[in-house]
Amino acid sequence: MPSYAFFHNDFVPLAEARIGVMTHALHYGTALFEGIRGNWNAEQQQIYIFRLREHYERLLNGCRVLKMNLPYTLDRLCEITVELVEKCGFQEDIYIRPLAYKSSETLGVRLHGLESDFLVFAIPWGRYLDVDKARCIIASWRRPDANVIPPQCKITGIYVNNAFAKTEAVENDFDEAIMLSPDGHISEGSGENIFLVVGGKLVTPPSYNSILMGITRNTVIELAQKELGVETSERPIDRSELYTAQECFLTGTAAHLTPVAEVDRRKIGDGEIGRITTELQKIYSDVIRGTNPKYLHWCTPAYKKATVPEKRR
Ligand code: PMP
Repeated sequence: MPSYAFFHNDFVPLAEARIGVMTHALHYGTALFEGIRGNWNAEQQQIYIFRLREHYERLLNGCRVLKMNLPYTLDRLCEITVELVEKCGFQEDIYIRPLAYKSSETLGVRLHGLESDFLVFAIPWGRYLDVDKARCIIASWRRPDANVIPPQCKITGIYVNNAFAKTEAVENDFDEAIMLSPDGHISEGSGENIFLVVGGKLVTPPSYNSILMGITRNTVIELAQKELGVETSERPIDRSELYTAQECFLTGTAAHLTPVAEVDRRKIGDGEIGRITTELQKIYSDVIRGTNPKYLHWCTPAYKKATVPEKRR
């Protein structure tokens, strides 16, 4: 099924959205992206876009850091995205990719004095880490310090660092790489945040350990607290503490909540999916599909003509 893009302020078939070879962002990584999920609810014939506003808030914060002025407000970015998803009409889980980029067709390393533009497209995308439980390694590539490239922003150029780590993991027959911060603490996966269960509580690295402040991370912290009464401690984690954790999982828009079975050829717990991880996976998957009324404020329906079953009206 063909898809569409919002490109140069217009909706066009995805195949027709093309940029020029001199585009600044292509040469210097001067762009910011987001990854947003649209989750298909078959019963309601609806796609729920998860935490749409929060994704665009993060993008607009990144625009300040990269000195980009987008010609769209937060509200307009949300509207454009809903319109795009409705136009695409997919009946399966999708992934929405917004990109704010330095669009001037000119060379020269800098941030200032360049035009910026915004595009967004949507494609069907199922599981990102296509395993029930992931086998991971600690990558030899570390996350950059916040004064090298700020890891709090999804700057396209920074993802070369993540790509090094991911490829190192996959070429060594692992599913995902876990990266260390510049000072050697556990930071995050190549496209996910990381959580441990220690003493029945959740532990996750803090903002100052070179992580992206994940929206799924924030969602899981809130769901664990409200639904399970489990608190999360945000603090530095040593590598050996990861090996000895009771449970471990990764969180991300693309990867959802993926259990980790093994790190550096050491089983986490008994190598099976732990109790807290299982419970959180179930709660999270209901919430993102719009089946938990308590969290519907996080879900934006894309289709106007969806059929909401009688009992839920
Ligand atoms: N860390 C990195 C490096 C990522 O690319 C992502 C995916 N956006 C995450 C963490 C998870 O963030 P989120 O839950 O907002 O998708």
